[in-house]
Amino acid sequence: KIVLGIETSCDDTAVAILNSKREILAAERFTNRKIQQEIGGISPIVCAEQHRKHLPILIEKCIFDAGISKNELDAIAVTSTPGLVIALKEGIGKAIQLARDLNRPLIPVHHMRAHALSIYLSEYASTIKFPFSTFLISGGHALIAIAKSAEEFELYGKSLSGSPGECLDKVAREISIPSEYSGIHAGAAIEKLAENAETDGYLKYAAVLPSTSGADMQFSQLKSTYLNLARKRREDSDFSVENFCASLQHSVAAHISSKLHSFFEQNSSNQLVVGGGVAANQYIFNAIQKVAKFYNCETFQVPLRLCSDNAEMITLTGLMMLELGSSSIIPPDKIPDTIYAHARTEIGIDCR
Ligand code: ATP
Ligand code: FE
Repeated sequence: KIVLGIETSCDDTAVAILNSKREILAAERFTNRKIQQEIGGISPIVCAEQHRKHLPILIEKCIFDAGISKNELDAIAVTSTPGLVIALKEGIGKAIQLARDLNRPLIPVHHMRAHALSIYLSEYASTIKFPFSTFLISGGHALIAIAKSAEEFELYGKSLSGSPGECLDKVAREISIPSEYSGIHAGAAIEKLAENAETDGYLKYAAVLPSTSGADMQFSQLKSTYLNLARKRREDSDFSVENFCASLQHSVAAHISSKLHSFFEQNSSNQLVVGGGVAANQYIFNAIQKVAKFYNCETFQVPLRLCSDNAEMITLTGLMMLELGSSSIIPPDKIPDTIYAHARTEIGIDCR
């Protein structure tokens, strides 16, 4: 089987084609992070316009690169939730049109499950066995779940407010990030700056960590704490952006680690998959890995290029759902005019 997958949940426009052997026949991604940085955040309208313009081009390019004809596609997979509604709708609309034209089934894919399952595109593909635990940290979510199958995720902890990625991104806007970092995610810029902090420099900007019960998390509070700290201290003659970034990164890692402790106190697992854009952060990943090791659990990091949004993970999830004969797959004659797109406000809670 050959599946084409589409991802448009946020600011990345992405298309990929995979076969049943889970080989990536083609993959394309378009993002314009500079625009988002210029306008000071992610604008759903700008994202939707980008998807509308670039999606048809990327689809054609992928089919060409894969060396197949459109008719050889067996199914179309698309991110259906969660994400920015008007951005999701662009991908969903295009997927419906393609599936109808080709008379093929449509596979609605859950974006967060796909973040976890993307580990099956890594060198660990044959090592990771269901059920495995997963910690997903991204621009819209933080959640700890046990993946029982490609379709069944049991949620054990979630962010009650905000996300680690949003916390890093918003705080980054309050401090002067050197322009050489303008083309990359703010979280990645913070990681690079923090590498140049002084030893123990992070202690110069100490913050109180949020207190939440069990494995639940809270990132809005952490964000406010650091926004206030930035506004108060950034004009100081001795303000060190490197030390400040190290402190922010350390606090995010510390909050995440403490919640992972809570999870392992209640649950045992021998494999933990860490995914989502923030999982690309080596400092945060190392903190997670240390906690997991304490509980005799091995940690696996999604390959860096697949941590942030991509269509390979959506297509792979589509393929896995096909293998399972998922009841969510919509046969060609039952494809509706639209499928409901959930808003990203449902942080983590629709993972079950
Ligand atoms: P979600 O997956 O929850 O819907 P999203 O798709 O917008 O949200 P991702 O693409 O998975 O999020 O991740 C993007 C986030 O990852 C951004 O907030 C970005 O700053 C953060 N990020 C990317 N690289 C790094 C890094 N090296 N360190 C920390 N954060 C990073
Ligand atoms: Fe994502």
